[in-house]
Amino acid sequence: MKGLSLMKLSCAEAASLCTKAEYREANLKEKLRLKLHIYLCRTCKDYQHNNKKLSSLLKKANLKSCSSSEKENFRKKMNNGNSQASQEQKKH
Ligand SMILES: [Zn+2]
Repeated sequence: MKGLSLMKLSCAEAASLCTKAEYREANLKEKLRLKLHIYLCRTCKDYQHNNKKLSSLLKKANLKSCSSSEKENFRKKMNNGNSQASQEQKKH
């Protein structure tokens, strides 16, 4: 059963992997370990569920909070020292 214990995660590890997976930073092995842990552990199953909800809420909030002045700032940064980007924008 040594192989299986290697696959096992603590809840804290599962929580951090859950965050990594949310940002697509977890590799396949980490995702499998996370899935296995979530299958066995109800606490982390709930945690992942809430985490997904929270991050989708944050994404929506980020979109809303990105005001037109922030977009303008971003555009200026893109134009500074990047003439190709500004040419791209003139085409549109
Ligand atoms: Zn757990």
